[in-house]
Amino acid sequence: MTIISDDNTFKKNIQKNPVIKSESIEYDKTFENSIRPKSFDSYIGQSELKETLKVSIEASKKRGSSLDHMLFYGPPGLGKTTLAGVVAEQMGAELKITSAPSLERPRDIIGILMSLKGGEILFIDEIHRLNKVAEEILYPAMEDFYLDMSTGKSQTAKTMHIPLPKFTLIGATTKAGELSGPLRDRFGIIHRLQFYTFEELSQVVKRTASILDIKITDEGANVIAKCSRGTPRIANRLVKRVSDFAIVKYEGEITEEVAKESLKALKIDEYGLDSTDRALLNMIVEKYDGGPVGINTLAAALGEDIRTLEDVCEPYLLQIGLLQRTPQGRKVSPQGYRHLGIKNFSSQQSLFGD
Ligand code: ADP
Repeated sequence: MTIISDDNTFKKNIQKNPVIKSESIEYDKTFENSIRPKSFDSYIGQSELKETLKVSIEASKKRGSSLDHMLFYGPPGLGKTTLAGVVAEQMGAELKITSAPSLERPRDIIGILMSLKGGEILFIDEIHRLNKVAEEILYPAMEDFYLDMSTGKSQTAKTMHIPLPKFTLIGATTKAGELSGPLRDRFGIIHRLQFYTFEELSQVVKRTASILDIKITDEGANVIAKCSRGTPRIANRLVKRVSDFAIVKYEGEITEEVAKESLKALKIDEYGLDSTDRALLNMIVEKYDGGPVGINTLAAALGEDIRTLEDVCEPYLLQIGLLQRTPQGRKVSPQGYRHLGIKNFSSQQSLFGD
Protein backbone atom coordinates (compact mmCIF):
# COMPACT_ATOMS: atom_id res chain seq x y z
CA MET A 1 0.00 0.00 0.00
CA THR A 2 1.36 3.41 -0.94
CA ILE A 3 0.12 6.51 0.88
CA ILE A 4 0.62 9.37 -1.52
CA SER A 5 -0.57 12.11 0.76
CA ASP A 6 -2.00 12.71 4.16
CA ASP A 7 -5.49 13.71 5.09
CA ASN A 8 -6.05 16.92 6.97
CA THR A 9 -9.57 16.18 8.18
CA PHE A 10 -8.12 13.29 10.09
CA LYS A 11 -5.72 15.64 11.86
CA LYS A 12 -8.49 18.13 12.60
CA ASN A 13 -10.73 15.41 14.02
CA ILE A 14 -7.93 14.21 16.23
CA GLN A 15 -7.34 17.70 17.55
CA LYS A 16 -11.03 18.13 18.34
CA ASN A 17 -11.73 14.74 19.84
CA PRO A 18 -10.87 14.61 23.53
CA VAL A 19 -10.67 10.81 23.50
CA ILE A 20 -7.66 10.92 21.27
CA LYS A 21 -6.34 14.40 21.94
CA SER A 22 -3.38 13.29 24.00
CA GLU A 23 -2.10 10.74 21.50
CA SER A 24 0.30 11.78 18.79
CA ILE A 25 -1.14 11.70 15.27
CA GLU A 26 1.73 9.56 13.99
CA TYR A 27 1.26 7.07 16.78
CA ASP A 28 -2.45 6.95 16.12
CA LYS A 29 -1.97 6.30 12.41
CA THR A 30 0.60 3.59 13.08
CA PHE A 31 -1.80 1.97 15.54
CA GLU A 32 -4.67 2.18 13.02
CA ASN A 33 -2.63 0.67 10.24
CA SER A 34 -1.34 -2.12 12.45
CA ILE A 35 -4.86 -3.34 13.24
CA ARG A 36 -6.52 -2.87 9.85
CA PRO A 37 -8.21 -6.09 8.69
CA LYS A 38 -6.65 -7.33 5.45
CA SER A 39 -9.26 -9.85 4.31
CA PHE A 40 -13.05 -10.13 4.03
CA ASP A 41 -12.99 -12.67 6.86
CA SER A 42 -11.35 -10.33 9.34
CA TYR A 43 -13.40 -7.33 8.11
CA ILE A 44 -16.34 -7.42 10.53
CA GLY A 45 -19.93 -6.50 9.53
CA GLN A 46 -21.13 -4.74 6.32
CA SER A 47 -22.20 -8.21 5.12
CA GLU A 48 -24.30 -7.10 2.14
CA LEU A 49 -21.56 -4.86 0.81
CA LYS A 50 -18.95 -7.59 1.27
CA GLU A 51 -21.09 -10.06 -0.72
CA THR A 52 -21.53 -7.57 -3.57
CA LEU A 53 -17.81 -6.90 -3.65
CA LYS A 54 -16.86 -10.57 -3.57
CA VAL A 55 -19.05 -11.18 -6.65
CA SER A 56 -17.51 -8.21 -8.51
CA ILE A 57 -13.98 -9.35 -7.66
CA GLU A 58 -14.68 -12.94 -8.72
CA ALA A 59 -16.29 -11.76 -11.99
CA SER A 60 -13.44 -9.42 -12.84
CA LYS A 61 -10.88 -12.18 -12.16
CA LYS A 62 -12.80 -14.61 -14.38
CA ARG A 63 -13.14 -12.05 -17.15
CA GLY A 64 -9.53 -10.96 -16.73
CA SER A 65 -10.71 -7.34 -16.73
CA SER A 66 -10.23 -4.48 -14.28
CA LEU A 67 -12.71 -3.98 -11.45
CA ASP A 68 -15.48 -1.39 -11.81
CA HIS A 69 -14.79 1.96 -10.17
CA MET A 70 -16.33 2.10 -6.70
CA LEU A 71 -17.67 4.79 -4.40
CA PHE A 72 -17.93 4.13 -0.66
CA TYR A 73 -19.75 6.67 1.44
CA GLY A 74 -20.61 7.08 5.11
CA PRO A 75 -19.34 8.82 8.27
CA PRO A 76 -15.63 8.73 9.13
CA GLY A 77 -14.14 5.63 10.77
CA LEU A 78 -16.64 3.11 9.36
CA GLY A 79 -14.01 1.29 7.32
CA LYS A 80 -13.94 2.83 3.82
CA THR A 81 -10.13 2.97 3.57
CA THR A 82 -9.85 -0.47 5.18
CA LEU A 83 -12.30 -1.93 2.66
CA ALA A 84 -10.31 -0.46 -0.24
CA GLY A 85 -7.27 -2.29 1.21
CA VAL A 86 -9.23 -5.55 1.44
CA VAL A 87 -10.38 -5.19 -2.19
CA ALA A 88 -6.79 -4.57 -3.33
CA GLU A 89 -5.55 -7.56 -1.33
CA GLN A 90 -8.22 -9.82 -2.86
CA MET A 91 -7.33 -8.59 -6.35
CA GLY A 92 -3.61 -9.04 -5.64
CA ALA A 93 -3.25 -5.39 -6.68
CA GLU A 94 -1.21 -2.47 -5.38
CA LEU A 95 -3.26 0.23 -3.57
CA LYS A 96 -2.30 3.87 -3.91
CA ILE A 97 -3.90 6.19 -1.38
CA THR A 98 -4.43 9.92 -1.73
CA SER A 99 -7.07 12.49 -0.78
CA ALA A 100 -8.87 15.14 -2.84
CA PRO A 101 -7.52 18.19 -0.96
CA SER A 102 -4.00 17.22 -2.00
CA LEU A 103 -4.96 17.10 -5.69
CA GLU A 104 -5.36 20.85 -6.08
CA ARG A 105 -3.24 21.40 -9.18
CA PRO A 106 -3.90 19.59 -12.49
CA ARG A 107 -0.37 18.17 -12.38
CA ASP A 108 -1.12 16.45 -9.04
CA ILE A 109 -3.87 14.27 -10.48
CA ILE A 110 -2.08 13.85 -13.85
CA GLY A 111 1.08 12.74 -12.04
CA ILE A 112 -0.76 10.10 -10.05
CA LEU A 113 -2.73 8.80 -13.04
CA MET A 114 0.43 8.54 -15.14
CA SER A 115 2.25 6.67 -12.38
CA LEU A 116 -0.42 3.92 -12.24
CA LYS A 117 0.31 0.45 -13.53
CA GLY A 118 -2.28 -1.90 -15.05
CA GLY A 119 -4.71 -3.35 -12.47
CA GLU A 120 -3.66 -0.96 -9.71
CA ILE A 121 -6.23 0.58 -7.39
CA LEU A 122 -6.27 4.30 -6.74
CA PHE A 123 -8.06 5.35 -3.54
CA ILE A 124 -9.15 8.99 -3.32
CA ASP A 125 -10.46 9.98 0.11
CA GLU A 126 -12.86 12.93 0.54
CA ILE A 127 -13.57 12.74 -3.17
CA HIS A 128 -16.41 15.29 -2.85
CA ARG A 129 -13.70 17.92 -2.35
CA LEU A 130 -12.12 17.37 -5.77
CA ASN A 131 -12.03 20.60 -7.78
CA LYS A 132 -13.67 20.99 -11.21
CA VAL A 133 -10.40 20.80 -13.17
CA ALA A 134 -9.28 17.60 -11.45
CA GLU A 135 -12.75 16.11 -11.99
CA GLU A 136 -12.64 16.87 -15.70
CA ILE A 137 -9.24 15.22 -15.98
CA LEU A 138 -10.67 12.17 -14.23
CA TYR A 139 -13.72 11.70 -16.50
CA PRO A 140 -11.95 10.28 -19.60
CA ALA A 141 -9.43 8.52 -17.35
CA MET A 142 -12.24 6.67 -15.56
CA GLU A 143 -14.38 6.04 -18.60
CA ASP A 144 -11.96 5.18 -21.41
CA PHE A 145 -8.56 5.15 -19.68
CA TYR A 146 -6.90 8.07 -21.38
CA LEU A 147 -5.76 11.60 -20.53
CA ASP A 148 -6.33 14.68 -22.65
CA MET A 149 -3.49 17.11 -22.09
CA SER A 150 -3.06 20.53 -23.68
CA THR A 151 0.41 21.85 -24.43
CA GLY A 152 1.41 25.31 -25.67
CA LYS A 153 -0.69 28.49 -25.59
CA SER A 154 -3.84 29.68 -27.44
CA GLN A 155 -3.39 29.24 -31.25
CA THR A 156 -0.38 26.96 -30.97
CA ALA A 157 -2.02 24.79 -28.30
CA LYS A 158 -2.13 21.08 -29.02
CA THR A 159 -4.13 18.38 -27.28
CA MET A 160 -2.33 15.14 -26.55
CA HIS A 161 -4.33 11.98 -26.15
CA ILE A 162 -2.39 9.79 -23.71
CA PRO A 163 -3.54 6.21 -23.04
CA LEU A 164 -3.52 5.01 -19.43
CA PRO A 165 -3.31 1.47 -18.08
CA LYS A 166 -6.62 0.01 -16.87
CA PHE A 167 -6.97 0.88 -13.20
CA THR A 168 -9.75 0.97 -10.62
CA LEU A 169 -10.68 4.14 -8.79
CA ILE A 170 -12.14 3.76 -5.31
CA GLY A 171 -13.57 7.04 -4.04
CA ALA A 172 -14.57 7.59 -0.42
CA THR A 173 -16.72 10.37 0.91
CA THR A 174 -18.62 11.40 4.00
CA LYS A 175 -20.91 13.51 1.79
CA ALA A 176 -22.17 11.63 -1.24
CA GLY A 177 -24.68 14.44 -1.88
CA GLU A 178 -21.86 16.89 -2.58
CA LEU A 179 -20.43 14.81 -5.41
CA SER A 180 -21.22 16.21 -8.86
CA GLY A 181 -23.66 14.13 -10.94
CA PRO A 182 -21.18 13.39 -13.78
CA LEU A 183 -18.56 12.11 -11.33
CA ARG A 184 -21.06 9.98 -9.40
CA ASP A 185 -22.33 8.47 -12.66
CA ARG A 186 -18.87 7.18 -13.50
CA PHE A 187 -18.80 4.79 -10.53
CA GLY A 188 -20.08 1.29 -11.35
CA ILE A 189 -20.57 0.38 -7.69
CA ILE A 190 -21.90 2.88 -5.15
CA HIS A 191 -22.26 1.75 -1.57
CA ARG A 192 -23.14 3.28 1.74
CA LEU A 193 -21.37 1.91 4.80
CA GLN A 194 -23.71 1.39 7.76
CA PHE A 195 -23.08 2.10 11.43
CA TYR A 196 -22.05 -1.15 13.14
CA THR A 197 -24.35 -3.09 15.45
CA PHE A 198 -23.53 -3.62 19.09
CA GLU A 199 -22.57 -7.28 18.43
CA GLU A 200 -20.28 -6.32 15.53
CA LEU A 201 -18.55 -3.67 17.64
CA SER A 202 -18.09 -6.17 20.42
CA GLN A 203 -16.27 -8.41 17.91
CA VAL A 204 -14.14 -5.44 16.76
CA VAL A 205 -13.23 -4.71 20.40
CA LYS A 206 -12.23 -8.33 21.11
CA ARG A 207 -10.23 -8.58 17.90
CA THR A 208 -8.28 -5.41 18.73
CA ALA A 209 -7.70 -6.49 22.34
CA SER A 210 -6.29 -9.77 21.06
CA ILE A 211 -3.95 -7.94 18.63
CA LEU A 212 -2.83 -5.72 21.53
CA ASP A 213 -2.40 -8.89 23.58
CA ILE A 214 -4.63 -7.67 26.39
CA LYS A 215 -7.13 -9.87 28.21
CA ILE A 216 -10.76 -8.79 28.02
CA THR A 217 -13.99 -10.28 29.38
CA ASP A 218 -17.23 -10.41 27.34
CA GLU A 219 -18.76 -7.84 29.70
CA GLY A 220 -15.73 -5.54 29.36
CA ALA A 221 -15.98 -5.75 25.56
CA ASN A 222 -19.71 -4.99 25.73
CA VAL A 223 -19.17 -1.82 27.77
CA ILE A 224 -16.66 -0.52 25.21
CA ALA A 225 -18.84 -1.57 22.26
CA LYS A 226 -21.80 0.34 23.71
CA CYS A 227 -19.76 3.56 23.86
CA SER A 228 -18.26 3.24 20.38
CA ARG A 229 -20.91 5.24 18.49
CA GLY A 230 -21.41 2.49 15.93
CA THR A 231 -17.86 3.15 14.64
CA PRO A 232 -14.89 0.73 14.60
CA ARG A 233 -12.32 3.55 14.66
CA ILE A 234 -13.78 4.76 17.96
CA ALA A 235 -14.03 1.19 19.30
CA ASN A 236 -10.34 0.67 18.56
CA ARG A 237 -9.22 3.90 20.17
CA LEU A 238 -11.27 3.15 23.26
CA VAL A 239 -9.75 -0.33 23.52
CA LYS A 240 -6.31 1.26 23.37
CA ARG A 241 -7.10 3.86 26.02
CA VAL A 242 -8.91 1.43 28.32
CA SER A 243 -6.08 -1.10 27.97
CA ASP A 244 -3.65 1.62 29.13
CA PHE A 245 -5.81 2.06 32.25
CA ALA A 246 -6.06 -1.71 32.72
CA ILE A 247 -2.28 -2.10 32.60
CA VAL A 248 -1.39 0.90 34.76
CA LYS A 249 -4.19 1.00 37.33
CA TYR A 250 -5.71 -2.48 37.40
CA GLU A 251 -4.54 -6.07 36.96
CA GLY A 252 -3.99 -5.87 33.20
CA GLU A 253 -7.40 -7.27 32.24
CA ILE A 254 -10.34 -5.31 30.80
CA THR A 255 -13.31 -6.32 32.93
CA GLU A 256 -16.71 -4.61 33.08
CA GLU A 257 -15.61 -2.54 36.08
CA VAL A 258 -12.26 -1.55 34.52
CA ALA A 259 -14.00 -0.51 31.29
CA LYS A 260 -16.64 1.55 33.14
CA GLU A 261 -14.12 3.27 35.39
CA SER A 262 -11.73 4.05 32.51
CA LEU A 263 -14.50 5.49 30.33
CA LYS A 264 -15.69 7.61 33.22
CA ALA A 265 -12.15 8.95 33.63
CA LEU A 266 -12.10 9.70 29.88
CA LYS A 267 -15.42 11.59 30.31
CA ILE A 268 -17.26 9.34 27.89
CA ASP A 269 -20.86 8.69 28.91
CA GLU A 270 -22.88 5.49 28.50
CA TYR A 271 -24.04 6.54 25.00
CA GLY A 272 -20.45 7.16 23.95
CA LEU A 273 -20.90 10.94 23.93
CA ASP A 274 -17.83 13.01 24.71
CA SER A 275 -17.54 16.59 25.90
CA THR A 276 -17.92 18.05 22.36
CA ASP A 277 -21.22 16.23 21.81
CA ARG A 278 -22.54 17.29 25.19
CA ALA A 279 -21.40 20.90 24.61
CA LEU A 280 -23.29 20.88 21.28
CA LEU A 281 -26.52 19.63 22.86
CA ASN A 282 -26.18 21.94 25.88
CA MET A 283 -25.52 24.94 23.67
CA ILE A 284 -28.72 24.34 21.65
CA VAL A 285 -30.77 23.92 24.83
CA GLU A 286 -29.30 26.75 26.87
CA LYS A 287 -28.67 29.42 24.23
CA TYR A 288 -31.22 28.60 21.54
CA ASP A 289 -34.11 27.28 23.59
CA GLY A 290 -33.66 23.76 22.18
CA GLY A 291 -33.44 24.95 18.55
CA PRO A 292 -33.84 25.04 15.65
CA VAL A 293 -30.48 26.69 15.09
CA GLY A 294 -28.23 26.69 12.01
CA ILE A 295 -25.00 24.70 11.95
CA ASN A 296 -22.88 27.78 11.12
CA THR A 297 -24.19 29.61 14.19
CA LEU A 298 -23.52 26.57 16.35
CA ALA A 299 -20.00 26.11 15.03
CA ALA A 300 -19.19 29.78 15.69
CA ALA A 301 -20.72 29.69 19.19
CA LEU A 302 -18.81 26.51 20.11
CA GLY A 303 -15.57 27.57 18.41
CA GLU A 304 -15.66 24.27 16.49
CA ASP A 305 -14.93 23.47 12.88
CA ILE A 306 -18.22 23.02 10.94
CA ARG A 307 -16.89 19.88 9.32
CA THR A 308 -16.17 18.29 12.70
CA LEU A 309 -19.73 19.01 13.82
CA GLU A 310 -21.24 17.80 10.54
CA ASP A 311 -19.05 14.75 9.97
CA VAL A 312 -18.12 13.59 13.45
CA CYS A 313 -20.72 14.74 16.00
CA GLU A 314 -24.01 15.04 14.12
CA PRO A 315 -24.39 11.71 12.27
CA TYR A 316 -24.31 9.74 15.50
CA LEU A 317 -26.46 12.17 17.50
CA LEU A 318 -29.05 12.02 14.70
CA GLN A 319 -28.76 8.24 14.47
CA ILE A 320 -29.49 7.71 18.18
CA GLY A 321 -32.24 10.32 18.11
CA LEU A 322 -30.79 12.93 20.50
CA LEU A 323 -30.70 15.54 17.74
CA GLN A 324 -33.15 16.31 14.95
CA ARG A 325 -32.47 18.03 11.64
CA THR A 326 -35.21 20.35 10.36
CA PRO A 327 -35.20 22.75 7.39
CA GLN A 328 -34.76 25.59 9.93
CA GLY A 329 -31.75 24.00 11.64
CA ARG A 330 -30.84 21.54 14.41
CA LYS A 331 -33.13 20.77 17.36
CA VAL A 332 -32.56 18.78 20.52
CA SER A 333 -35.14 15.96 20.70
CA PRO A 334 -37.10 15.06 23.87
CA GLN A 335 -34.65 12.10 24.29
CA GLY A 336 -31.80 14.61 24.02
CA TYR A 337 -33.27 16.62 26.90
CA ARG A 338 -33.68 13.45 28.94
CA HIS A 339 -30.10 12.44 28.24
CA LEU A 340 -28.85 15.82 29.48
CA GLY A 341 -31.08 15.52 32.54
CA ILE A 342 -32.86 18.78 31.63
CA LYS A 343 -36.64 19.27 31.60
CA ASN A 344 -37.96 20.18 28.18
CA PHE A 345 -40.10 23.22 29.04
CA SER A 346 -40.76 24.24 25.43
CA SER A 347 -42.19 20.81 24.50
CA GLN A 348 -44.35 20.84 27.69
CA GLN A 349 -45.69 24.26 26.73
CA SER A 350 -46.62 23.09 23.26
CA LEU A 351 -48.25 19.97 24.72
CA PHE A 352 -50.54 22.16 26.83
CA GLY A 353 -51.13 24.52 23.97
CA ASP A 354 -49.77 27.80 25.43
P1 ADP B 1 -12.76 5.41 7.08
O1 ADP B 1 -11.86 5.30 5.90
O2 ADP B 1 -14.19 5.06 6.78
O3 ADP B 1 -12.65 6.73 7.80
P2 ADP B 1 -10.99 3.36 8.18
O4 ADP B 1 -11.07 2.36 7.09
O5 ADP B 1 -9.77 4.22 8.25
O6 ADP B 1 -12.30 4.30 8.17
O7 ADP B 1 -11.20 2.56 9.55
C1 ADP B 1 -10.82 3.08 10.79
C2 ADP B 1 -10.28 1.99 11.69
O8 ADP B 1 -11.35 1.12 12.03
C3 ADP B 1 -9.20 1.12 11.05
O9 ADP B 1 -8.04 1.18 11.83
C4 ADP B 1 -9.70 -0.28 11.05
O10 ADP B 1 -8.80 -1.11 11.73
C5 ADP B 1 -10.98 -0.26 11.83
N1 ADP B 1 -12.05 -0.90 11.08
C6 ADP B 1 -12.82 -0.30 10.14
N2 ADP B 1 -13.72 -1.15 9.65
C7 ADP B 1 -13.53 -2.32 10.28
C8 ADP B 1 -14.19 -3.60 10.21
N3 ADP B 1 -15.21 -3.79 9.38
N4 ADP B 1 -13.73 -4.59 11.00
C9 ADP B 1 -12.72 -4.36 11.86
N5 ADP B 1 -12.08 -3.18 11.99
C10 ADP B 1 -12.46 -2.17 11.21
